[in-house]
Amino acid sequence: MVETVRGPVDAADLGTTLMHEHVFVLTPDLLANYGHEYWDEELRVADAVDKLSRLRALGVRTIVDPTVVGLGRYLPRVARVNAEVDINIVAATGLYTFDELPRQLQSRGPGSLLGGEEPMTGMFLRDVREGIGGTDVKAAFLKGVVEEKGLTPDQERIHRALAATHRETGVPITVHTNSEHRTGRLVLDFYEAEGVDLTKVVVGHAGDSNDLDYLRALADRGATLGCDRFGLDRYNTTDRRVATVAALCGEGYADRIVLSHDASCYIDFYAGAEAQRTLYAAAPNWHYEHITRDVLPALREAGVTDAQITTMMVDNPRRYFGG
Ligand SMILES: [Zn+2]
Repeated sequence: MVETVRGPVDAADLGTTLMHEHVFVLTPDLLANYGHEYWDEELRVADAVDKLSRLRALGVRTIVDPTVVGLGRYLPRVARVNAEVDINIVAATGLYTFDELPRQLQSRGPGSLLGGEEPMTGMFLRDVREGIGGTDVKAAFLKGVVEEKGLTPDQERIHRALAATHRETGVPITVHTNSEHRTGRLVLDFYEAEGVDLTKVVVGHAGDSNDLDYLRALADRGATLGCDRFGLDRYNTTDRRVATVAALCGEGYADRIVLSHDASCYIDFYAGAEAQRTLYAAAPNWHYEHITRDVLPALREAGVTDAQITTMMVDNPRRYFGG
């Protein structure tokens, strides 16, 4: 069984799955103080219901949402959306930062002013076992980041806590990596040393790379390649992403690839109507429907079989979540 926003679902029933999509990406203290300039709660909830309903009508039954602390995770809003649309949304726990921990966490834990046990392990375990933020929605996977700066001391604390949570509960991990800096290697080295089952790790944003040697090396260690930013052309164009996935499928790696967009219904990195218009003009394909409408036909054109597409979109997500 896989925990989702609406409760447990049989892994065999996840169906076609997008493995890295956000519903909302928000900055809560900006939202609280300046949200009146760009945020309309009712409008945004209705918009999310509409976007997810259209995605469901295209045959996608599940989205896996790695929105954690640092990206404005707020499950009551997601649950409100999900009550209006028949789609599985898988929630995460973990912490999103490119470098430092929030001050509250810097001041406690091993080696800190207040000392004590690593508080994040307890936080993550609670989210997996009891529910997130007072809701009964449980996290079904873990999310962290290893960016350009690598495993800074604060990042190391986060990933140690994620690894400990994985060892205790078996829930899988998705890591945001920087493909230009090849940080997927650091991630797998760290997790291997921490006793993590690498077949339960998605190297997120691996698909920003077209370096087949880098990608094969990650997959050969058992990890899954997150080809998960289709439509974000500034990191890699759709044509090149398609060519890379097709090449890997041709070499027998379909069972180590998942597909997604890293899109959202609303992301306040581009807050306000004008910024949203600019974003749309710069990345018109960065939305939930690009894979179904454009990428899958292009993959078939490039020689990827229907069976390989099913492997990437149905079987690999099921295996990742333990089914
Ligand atoms: Zn993301």
